[in-house]
Amino acid sequence: MAFSFLDDPLDRAEHLRTDSAALARLWPEARVLVLDGAGNAWVDAEGLPPRLTGTAVGARPDTAVFLGLHAAQAWFALPAADAPAALAVGGVVDLRTAAATWPARESTAFAQARAVLYWRMRHRFCGACGGTLAWARAGWLGRCPQCGLEHYPRTDPAVIVAVTDGTRLLLGRQAAWPARRYSTLAGFVEPGETLEQTVVREVYEESAVRIRSCRYLASQPWPFPSSLMLGFIADAEPDTPKVNDELEDARWFDADEIGAALRGARPDDGLLLSPKLSISRWLIEQWHALHASA
Ligand SMILES: [Zn+2]
Repeated sequence: MAFSFLDDPLDRAEHLRTDSAALARLWPEARVLVLDGAGNAWVDAEGLPPRLTGTAVGARPDTAVFLGLHAAQAWFALPAADAPAALAVGGVVDLRTAAATWPARESTAFAQARAVLYWRMRHRFCGACGGTLAWARAGWLGRCPQCGLEHYPRTDPAVIVAVTDGTRLLLGRQAAWPARRYSTLAGFVEPGETLEQTVVREVYEESAVRIRSCRYLASQPWPFPSSLMLGFIADAEPDTPKVNDELEDARWFDADEIGAALRGARPDDGLLLSPKLSISRWLIEQWHALHASA
């Protein structure tokens, strides 16, 4: 795909999560990704993922999460607090940097590792009774020893939408973004809502533009920290955009402006779009491919 965190995924081999003997056999030769508390990954001197093995780490800590298999090799994620500090030789990189510089398999596994370790960091206690969770299923289950409740990793669904009135594309910008940067509108799904209802509600809330219909195109894991972006294209009324406090501006752009931005034709004074790692950029490209010659 033209965006990050989905190509060349590991085989999650869920059946192994309860097979502690198999995981113990796989650990010495396993590939271990180490992440710090901010969700950044240890790297080697070149900024690439170090080829750390289970043997280098030592005995497998209880906090190691089994990510899956590539061929016969197991991959694990490990919090830096439980890895020997002497192995940290190259510093760390964040996931966005890794998406641009690492091979797809490693950056996709990093995204998976970041999402599951973040969930565990923020769910150390039972939400029902406050008991300290005990990790099971190779890290994918938190069991409360007090009340028995089982806690599973959470993913927050969010829609991200290329909104068109037939000839133009609606983009918005947040005040904190670099100047002239615009992106597709996005928002979290609320409890009791369908994805289509979220598209209608979020676009109207953020821009006062009314959606007529929408269609799902593709999704992207977005572990910043725990989202799943669900990409839509939507037909809308040609309403004049009005923003509230979420966005600083929302505007319609024609195909020529979008095309120039995709080509990077006017980096100093033109429209700037999201970087290539995001599904936002890909949605804009899909829209432009349909409308460039119109
Ligand atoms: Zn409990």
